[in-house]
Amino acid sequence: MTTRSLVDVSELERPALETALTALGHRAFHAGQIFRWLYQRGVTDPAQMTDLSRELRTTLADDFTAATPALVHREKSIDGTEKFLLRLHDGRTIESVFIPDTPGMTFCISTQVGCAMACAFCLTGKMGLVRNLTAGEIVGQVRVLVDALSMRGTAFNIVLMGMGEPLHNYDETMKALRILTDKDGFAMSPKRITLSTVGLLRELERLAKEPIMPNLAISLHAPTDAQRGELVPINKKYGVADIIAACKRFPLKKRARITFEYVLLAGVNDRPEDARRLAKLLAGVKSKVNLIPLNAAAGIPFERPSDEAVDRFAGILADRGLLVSVRKSRGRDIRAACGQLIVEGQKRSPGQKLASRLDNRVIG
Ligand code: SAH
Repeated sequence: MTTRSLVDVSELERPALETALTALGHRAFHAGQIFRWLYQRGVTDPAQMTDLSRELRTTLADDFTAATPALVHREKSIDGTEKFLLRLHDGRTIESVFIPDTPGMTFCISTQVGCAMACAFCLTGKMGLVRNLTAGEIVGQVRVLVDALSMRGTAFNIVLMGMGEPLHNYDETMKALRILTDKDGFAMSPKRITLSTVGLLRELERLAKEPIMPNLAISLHAPTDAQRGELVPINKKYGVADIIAACKRFPLKKRARITFEYVLLAGVNDRPEDARRLAKLLAGVKSKVNLIPLNAAAGIPFERPSDEAVDRFAGILADRGLLVSVRKSRGRDIRAACGQLIVEGQKRSPGQKLASRLDNRVIG
């Protein structure tokens, strides 16, 4: 018996699906119908795709598959945030988070298993990079969450702020955005999607030329290279000034702003002089600052600042004319908050082992 390899429809953006269909003697326009079944109705079984001819349904059943991440566990926070553990075809697991009432509905989606950036305050960073997610796996998280939360027909936002550095997995992330925004895919407006990055410069320049432009969030975290280099290792390659210059060049729509995320760490980057330096740095950038008081965890050698320190920091920025918000921490009781996504059963890095030894609550 010969084993035939099946075409995984979930990995195909529209032109590729059209090509695959025409190669088998079918018409290209069926790609749109198949997209609508898959993304708008959540149907993966060709037998149920009732507006397709019997012949095409047979072709799909024989030659195609639609891989979907398996939902293995879900956990709900007292604040309504919900964390989903998903298993991929190779047994690797990732986490995705649903955050209600933000005021909209938001999905926090992963782009990699683990992360190579190794930011000093982030638990995912301690896993190291296990592998990139494929576009199908990135969009697959959205398919699974929409179904699990019965949200078909409900508008939602996506933040690429789960596990991984989206610009370190550039091609698959962009392909996922094309499927999410396709009129027969999830038909999302790019304005509902936010890509958060440590600021990989070459990829930022590429992103600036993309036809589909998500909102941009830069994980800045410190106003000087000396401070940032200690927190975000990649800063040794791309410094603060380079990132700010790239942001100033970035093509923004009218009224659009770049979000600068800033994790506040007690005594490290939360002092008044840090706030004053940050305000100076961002002068002339169309920005808003999102302050994220650290979500502390065992194995993370920093502390969350007091509410007073957070208010003082925000106040200094606001006094200098910056738009500032403080990110409310959501889902901390289920370890679904920023920087707390980490999953067991992967190759564990030494840092991850240390974290789990220090506090076994850390590992899901
Ligand atoms: N790699 C991307 C997206 C993932 S993280 C990036 O760096 O932007 C999303 C945000 O959570 C980032 O700003 C990240 O720095 C922040 N974060 C990581 N660990 C955190 C922690 N322990 N507490 C609060 N925020 C954290």
